[in-house]
Amino acid sequence: MTSLPPLREVIARHGLQASKALGQNFLLDEQLLGRIAAIPGNLKDAEVLEVGPGPGGLTRALLRAGARVTAVEMDRRCLPALAELDDAFPGQLRVIEGDAMKIAAETLFDGPYAIAANLPYNVGTALFVGWLSGEAWPPRWSSLTLMFQQEVAERIVAAPGSSAYGRLAVLAQWRAVPRIATKVHRSAFTPPPKVMSAIIHVVPAAMPEGVSARMLERVTEAAFGQRRKMLRQSLKGLPNALDALAELGIDSARRAETLSVAEFVALARALTY
Ligand code: SAM
Repeated sequence: MTSLPPLREVIARHGLQASKALGQNFLLDEQLLGRIAAIPGNLKDAEVLEVGPGPGGLTRALLRAGARVTAVEMDRRCLPALAELDDAFPGQLRVIEGDAMKIAAETLFDGPYAIAANLPYNVGTALFVGWLSGEAWPPRWSSLTLMFQQEVAERIVAAPGSSAYGRLAVLAQWRAVPRIATKVHRSAFTPPPKVMSAIIHVVPAAMPEGVSARMLERVTEAAFGQRRKMLRQSLKGLPNALDALAELGIDSARRAETLSVAEFVALARALTY
């Protein structure tokens, strides 16, 4: 195994005090980082996009697993620490200084790639939604391995009937399979955040036929926008939605959170033209 200085030393030597504004909570436990890098499966010679490498803890674990890592980081203070990793794993690491929100992942690779990241909450959810949206499917990414606040992770895998079930669950489940790979205690981070975290692993699945992603979004937006209301009320503004409910035999007195992902898909299909 390539021997590298402890991450604590890297942080001290490069003066990488965690910035609150950049949502920086670093992972320093190399055993934990090794376990996270194993979640996507065999990464030998695989292309991996890592968003927000920071001092490079997850990056070094991915490199040790044999991945070819493209790391996008917007905090330029981290670049010298990442350059040391480039020296230790020649030809395996490409670092891009920039805002991951402004870079389309697929422009960085010619073939398939996995995505792995320990991101700040806001950016993480926005990127997640972006990676799961759009009409083109399957996506070029083969899997997502992402750290989230535990509460957000639970919303992603939520089943109908629970208060966590909503737009994020439908988006994540209608043509992909998400699972919580592991929970991560807040004390694993430096500095520790206020809340517990969990790692979500997602793989793409077949896209149901005859459904526009945009229409499914419109339906879930309307239905969950007024989640306490009956569907006949919340979907009133969506043309033909009430007729479609009747045709599908979905009781319009039901509320959004009782509909299965398959029922949302059927509804969106009926409204897709
Ligand atoms: N991956 C490191 C680890 O696990 O210790 C750092 C994790 S820290 C929670 C999040 C990292 O994402 C920080 O290094 C931060 O600078 C970076 N970051 C935040 N917003 C970003 C963005 N929009 N684009 C790229 N990197 C971003």
